[in-house]
Amino acid sequence: MTQSKTIAFIGLGHMGGPMAANLVKAGFDVTAYDLSEEALAQARKNGCTTASSIAEAVTGKDAVITMLPAGRHVRAVYGAADGVFASARKGALFCDCSTIDIQSARDVAAEAEKLGFVMVDSPVSGGVAAAEAGTLAFMVGGSDAAFDAAEPVLEPMAKAVLHAGGSGAGQAVKICNNMLLGICMIGTSEAFVLAKKLGLDPQRFFDISSKASGQNWSMTAYCPEPGPVPSSPANNGYKPGFSAAMMLKDLRLAQEAAHQSGAATPLGAEAQALYALFEQLGGGDTDFSGIIQMLNGDWTG
Ligand code: NAD
Repeated sequence: MTQSKTIAFIGLGHMGGPMAANLVKAGFDVTAYDLSEEALAQARKNGCTTASSIAEAVTGKDAVITMLPAGRHVRAVYGAADGVFASARKGALFCDCSTIDIQSARDVAAEAEKLGFVMVDSPVSGGVAAAEAGTLAFMVGGSDAAFDAAEPVLEPMAKAVLHAGGSGAGQAVKICNNMLLGICMIGTSEAFVLAKKLGLDPQRFFDISSKASGQNWSMTAYCPEPGPVPSSPANNGYKPGFSAAMMLKDLRLAQEAAHQSGAATPLGAEAQALYALFEQLGGGDTDFSGIIQMLNGDWTG
């Protein structure tokens, strides 16, 4: 497959907007399409050409990138009568970077392959700041040939482009990783809550636990307790970062996959319940580390 030069980018929200801008900076010819006029105006400022329909955006392009909210949006954008499949040129590369359910990812990719396209699921780790900086980690599901075609297109937006396995494997890695992250964040928060109740100075607890076996990323890179890690959202009013609502979305996808596959994930289920409660109490737009405020009884909404 020849290297992609012209790209249609669909879904220019918080993540897609800056991702498309980084592709323009890298020299790609990017045509943007979104339902939001505001998103399109910003895309024009960032050097994209804009289109007024999916058909106009994708016709004749080497590659199509999508960054959409959920599986139903991805199914519709690719599969609708006026969607990507109907207008893209045969052999075009599709990268769906949205975080969606594994079944939708597999179904859409299978249909793409049947119709003579090349497709990967390529969800990302890293929030808006990483999208702006071009330092996202892409977890890619698809054949070896599809991965090789996708890598140079994803690279200008990435600090890492990693091949997870066959179709759907990118989504599977993403939700397993984020289930672990949600559990670790709650566990780390509970440890600080208990440490303080026991009269420990949180900084001293951090100094010791971060060098002992309790050490984990949620503690040492993204500490939910204000103080020990200056760059963590805890020192910035728990401004996201990665919102609790986004974490809840990923935990729900993980539970859906656990039920479908028969995996026992009791802590994942409990993490989902706690983030759902935090969202009900008004914490959805707070950084996901802000759940410590609910656990220590300080949350005021
Ligand atoms: P967003 O809601 O800001 O952006 C989604 C965009 O898709 C919107 O601009 C919307 O208008 C557009 N859209 C929806 N349906 C469309 C359609 N039919 N045609 C064209 N455009 C359409 O969401 P976001 O924060 O950019 O997240 C996008 C994806 O990235 C989600 O799957 C999310 O889970 C994932 N993600 C987000 C973050 C984050 O921190 N925001 C981090 C990692 C992964």
